[in-house]
Amino acid sequence: MRRSLDVVIVGAGERNLLVSDKVPGPELELALHSAALWQTLAQELPSSIEYERKGGLVVAQAEDSLAGLSATAAGQRRAGVEAYDLTAGRLREIEPHLAPGPAGGCLYPQDAQVQPALAAAELLRSSVRAGACLWPGEEVVAILADRAGAVSGVRTARCELRAPVVVNAAGTWGGEVAALAGTPLPVMPRRGFVLVTEPLPRLIRHKVYAAEYVAYARAPRAVAANPGKVGEGVRYGAALARAGVRVRTRRAVTEVRGDGRVGRR
Ligand SMILES: Cc1cc2nc3c(=O)[nH]c(=O)nc-3n(C[C@H](O)[C@H](O)[C@H](O)COP(=O)(O)OP(=O)(O)OC[C@H]3O[C@@H](n4cnc5c(N)ncnc54)[C@H](O)[C@@H]3O)c2cc1C
Repeated sequence: MRRSLDVVIVGAGERNLLVSDKVPGPELELALHSAALWQTLAQELPSSIEYERKGGLVVAQAEDSLAGLSATAAGQRRAGVEAYDLTAGRLREIEPHLAPGPAGGCLYPQDAQVQPALAAAELLRSSVRAGACLWPGEEVVAILADRAGAVSGVRTARCELRAPVVVNAAGTWGGEVAALAGTPLPVMPRRGFVLVTEPLPRLIRHKVYAAEYVAYARAPRAVAANPGKVGEGVRYGAALARAGVRVRTRRAVTEVRGDGRVGRR
C-alpha cells in the first residue's frame, strides 16, 4: 500500500541480497521481507539495476562445517527460507568450476544480486518522480527535538527541516547521527575487500561463498580474539592505500587460485 507523505532526502559492483547468511530472528525476517520487496521493485525499476535472482550456494569444505551448515539450514527452513542440502557430487553438477574437495553445501534459491549504485540512483529518481525532494551533499549536523524531547526534524549546515518522522539511514555513520539525538547505537565499520578480476567467460552461476565465512562473521568474539583482525581494525582504511593489497585466496571455494589469478584449470 502506498501512502502520500512529504519526503526530503538529505545526505550525501554488484552486491548480494542474501537470506542464506542470516539465522532465525529479526535480521532474517527483515531479509525475507527485503527479498520480497526487491522482487517487486525489480519489476518497477529499469533492468539496468541488474537484479538477478540467481540463488546462493554455500559450500562447506570440511565435514564439521557441513554439519554446522545443515543445522543452520534446518533452522532457516523452519523460519520460511527455501534451503536444499547438497552432496559434493550434486554441488559439482550445479557449479562445475568449484575448487576440488568440498564436503557438501546448501542451495538457497531466494538469494539474489543487484548493482547497488544503479539501484540507489533509480530509487532516488523514482522517489523524486513521486514527489520527494532530494538535497544531495547536505550533512545533518543536529537532530531537532520538541519540548517533550521527541524528534521534530534535523539541522543541516544550511537550514532547519521540520518533520514528524526522521529516518536515520546514515549506514556506517548511523551511530554518529544517532548520537546527535543522544541515542547510543553501536554501529561499527568492518573492512571488506572486493576482488575485481579480468573479464572472463561466465564460470560461476550462483552467489557462491564459504560456509566457514558465515560461521566466522557471526562470531564477533572470534574476530576480536584474532590479533590480525584487531590489527586490521586499527589500521582501518589506511592499509590498502599505503601497502597495496596482498591477495590471500587459499580459502577460496571457486577457481580463484593462490597466485591471485583467476582462470580455468
Ligand atoms: C566491500 C563490501 C562489500 C559488501 N557487500 C555487501 C553485499 O554483498 N550485500 C550486502 O547486503 N551488503 C554488503 N555490504 C554492506 C553494505 O554495503 C552496507 O550495509 C550498505 O551499503 C549500507 O547501506 P545504507 O544505505 O544503510 O548506508 P550507506 O550506503 O553507507 O549510506 C549512508 C549515507 O549516509 C550519508 N551520511 C552519513 N552521515 C551523514 C550525515 N551526518 N548527514 C547526511 N548524510 C550522511 C553518507 O554520505 C552515505 O551516503 C558490503 C560492504 C562492503 C564494504
